[in-house]
Amino acid sequence: MAHAKGDSGQPVSSPPFTSTLSQELLDRVIDHLHTDKASLQACALVARRWLSVSRLHLFEKTSVKGWSQDDFKLFRDHLLAPDNGISFCIRDLSLVGKGYALGGPNVSSSFPRLCKHTLQDIVLHLPNLRTLHLLRLRPAGCVDDCQSRPLLPRSVNLDSLTLRIGSAEDPLQEIVEVFRLFGEVQNLHALSVDWQVEPETQPQSILRDVTTQMAQPNALPSQLRVHSLASAAPKLFYLLPALASTETRDSLTSLEIGPLRIGVQVETLRDFLHKLGPTFSRLYLAMGEPISIDLTDHSGLSLRTAPTLSILVLPLNLRLWESPEHGRWRCTRVLDALASASGSTTIRYINFHFKFDVPWVLGWDSATFAEALSCRMDWVGLKEVLQTFPNLVKARMLLMDDPGFFNDFQATITANLARLVELNLLEIQPLPLLKDEWRPVFWWALNA
Ligand SMILES: [Zn+2]
Repeated sequence: MAHAKGDSGQPVSSPPFTSTLSQELLDRVIDHLHTDKASLQACALVARRWLSVSRLHLFEKTSVKGWSQDDFKLFRDHLLAPDNGISFCIRDLSLVGKGYALGGPNVSSSFPRLCKHTLQDIVLHLPNLRTLHLLRLRPAGCVDDCQSRPLLPRSVNLDSLTLRIGSAEDPLQEIVEVFRLFGEVQNLHALSVDWQVEPETQPQSILRDVTTQMAQPNALPSQLRVHSLASAAPKLFYLLPALASTETRDSLTSLEIGPLRIGVQVETLRDFLHKLGPTFSRLYLAMGEPISIDLTDHSGLSLRTAPTLSILVLPLNLRLWESPEHGRWRCTRVLDALASASGSTTIRYINFHFKFDVPWVLGWDSATFAEALSCRMDWVGLKEVLQTFPNLVKARMLLMDDPGFFNDFQATITANLARLVELNLLEIQPLPLLKDEWRPVFWWALNA
């Protein structure tokens, strides 16, 4: 508050600041500043009546970055103090590990540890928490004062949980136990989940280890109920049997997963899909570059027997900078996966997410694009397999990038799938028009 000069020339304090606004009106005025951090900080210092609502907005979305577990423990200790003032404010929390590593395969080993006890202390002291990001953290590092302490049998419900956890040096048990902390989770994004696996371990043996870990008393994430799961993490495939043994089995509505690279992933996914209950309806399945010879075709997926699958989404990146043969090969792999669902009576929508990565060189005009698309797609094969779905309502062809080529995209598909157009089974859209369409985790997983 500014000081004024009195008649005598001596400075006098202005009267204490008072506001005649009711608390409700005051709160509404400050609510309007919810995106203006500097103003909120200033408001918080004006008067006690201004503090609570300012603080509510300032801490609604909070990010804690740490170099070591001690940094996160300081935050935990602050939350444990009864008069901390922010526990009720935080709805969206990011706990982010910082690391020194420059790169390489073991980059995640340099990220800080955050043991399950510290993590549980934090989440249990945030009554309004709805969104949690655990990024670049290793769920390990119990010390003497918590090592033997059992976790509290209280799970936290969330709208969204994003995980980028673990390293090649962390025990599997610590990873499994993170899942025990949570109950109802609307959206689980597993960007990366890693743990220690001895070199040359066979995939079947990793699956056995997970099963053994699941059989440990109290090791099961027994209260976990995930509704939508998206993951581009290769090791998540090994956790699918563990998820199928939780209530997630009866709550999961959609699964976005891939890329499929080895045969055991196909088998694990097939078994998982068959265990899911009647809520499950939507599958987004990405093919990857195969890294083992046992993934020669996708018939082992047997999608036709997934009991309640009704929407199947298949991304197809034809990468116009690669050879037409390579593009054709990509197309064949996706059609093989689709063919494993042939005859399904439950599938009603099949969505293709087309990406092209058009080369950034001169000379790419409409004609070049249309020709490149034509010779990379097996249009006859696509038409034939789409006709095997007796209850198909729509086959949607969505252009995920390069909207400048949409007219050519539309024209090429219409010309090649004329019969489906006649039957009113075809829909061709640029993605931005479809608000509800899946935004694949794979896009932003790369930038997270
Ligand atoms: Zn601990």
